[in-house]
Amino acid sequence: MRFSLDDRHDSLEAFLEANAPNEPEFHQAVVEVMADIKPIIDQSEAYKAANIFRRLVEPERLISFQVAWQTDAGRIEVNRGYRVQFNGAIGPYKGGLRFHPTVTPSVLKFLAFEQTFKNALTGLPMGGAKGGSDFDPSGRSEAEIMRFCGAFMQELQRHIGPDIDIPAGDINVGSREIGYLFGCYRRIKGRFEGVLTGKEEAFAGSAMRTEATGYGVMYFLSDMLNAHDDTIEGKTVLISGAGNVATYAAEKAIALGAKVITLSDSSGFVHDADGLNTEKIDWVRAHKAQAGTSLRAYVDKFGGAWFDGETPWSIKADIAAPCATQNELSGKAAENLVKNGTKAVIEGANMPTTSDAKAVFARNEILFAPGKAANAGGVAVSGLEISQNRTRRSDDADKVDATLRAIMSDIHAACVEEGTRDGKVDYAKGANIAGFRKVADAMVAQGVG
Ligand code: NDP
Repeated sequence: MRFSLDDRHDSLEAFLEANAPNEPEFHQAVVEVMADIKPIIDQSEAYKAANIFRRLVEPERLISFQVAWQTDAGRIEVNRGYRVQFNGAIGPYKGGLRFHPTVTPSVLKFLAFEQTFKNALTGLPMGGAKGGSDFDPSGRSEAEIMRFCGAFMQELQRHIGPDIDIPAGDINVGSREIGYLFGCYRRIKGRFEGVLTGKEEAFAGSAMRTEATGYGVMYFLSDMLNAHDDTIEGKTVLISGAGNVATYAAEKAIALGAKVITLSDSSGFVHDADGLNTEKIDWVRAHKAQAGTSLRAYVDKFGGAWFDGETPWSIKADIAAPCATQNELSGKAAENLVKNGTKAVIEGANMPTTSDAKAVFARNEILFAPGKAANAGGVAVSGLEISQNRTRRSDDADKVDATLRAIMSDIHAACVEEGTRDGKVDYAKGANIAGFRKVADAMVAQGVG
């Protein structure tokens, strides 16, 4: 594939190797998206004249900073903090913060790049960003988490604001961490303003933000199956992860009549052939909320089988919903799902499916919903939180849930509109093109300089 990114490189891969060396996750995301949008750019003189290609693969800003903080034992530790403000053409930057040892510029650039299109898909005015730190919270005390959040915000506050950049949570950044981050920002600035989303409802958070991503995933799945003369009711579902997205996706899947038979974490997965229920999910949430715990304890409590260090994709089921982390579903796992008759794959996490696995699904005509569409419910409700904060109002859960439901349907419809060829829907292509058009048109209209 030839790309006119600059005079020196005649392929996207060569360009990325030279301009973003050692950033495999970022390359993967860019190559996948660009394959879908290159034909759209090639057909548009306006996009070519504005050099949209080149500008879309360069973050507007990548901020890296030192986070020095004190352990309970009095030792000073140093981590690295980041904020990648990727594209602000359609609104203030918006995207989560992740605390995990695997956080690198490559991971955050891929996430912020994807976030740009995801945010556009929601129909709300939000640019794309992502941030976080290589800090590992496992085994840290509550006081250490609080001090780390404070030290992180001491620097981040220079770069964010309600009209500039409004971060949210992501892996290991839940409502507790958002509370500490918000408190620190408020004390430094002396202002109570909507600078973070995912806040508790007691201090200007939105109803349903916690549930939104997982619920949205299952709303999208339901629409996707209905569009293919099928239904979620009675389906068996494999879910990976045991965090925010996974547990709320499981809860909604069950409410819609499906049977969820797996959950996982970084130590392995549990197969519960009887299916999860509310009691089991509540227990998982409470158990995993304690620092450094493994899901293995589930089988002692409720039975089922534990598979140490493995992912759930060896189990037979109708639906696979990877909801843990990037590249957790390999080509080999995909072959296995196909062999077992899996009908649809829906990404709750960001880019959990490797390029190889996507190729397997495409070859076998498995319905595939990409994360940037399927998990957009979280950022959509974050967008609703921003507007509630602006007008100092609090919408109730029913109202927010109804809006979330409508937004997920609109995203599904946009994917179908842009992704249908010869009667078949390529949801990944549809999501990429629909998100791209909105961002690119805004970039053209705003010019440069
Ligand atoms: P949480 O921190 O709540 O949960 C993450 C889960 O994934 C945990 O069960 C964790 O296990 C597991 N996990 C993390 N890393 C690995 C790994 N390398 N291998 C296997 N399991 C792993 O995060 P969220 O649920 O919020 O996020 C999950 C995914 O969804 C991420 O890709 C995130 O970017 C994406 N996402 C989240 C949104 C949100 O609103 N929260 C919005 C949109 C996307 P353990 O506890 O053992 O570490």
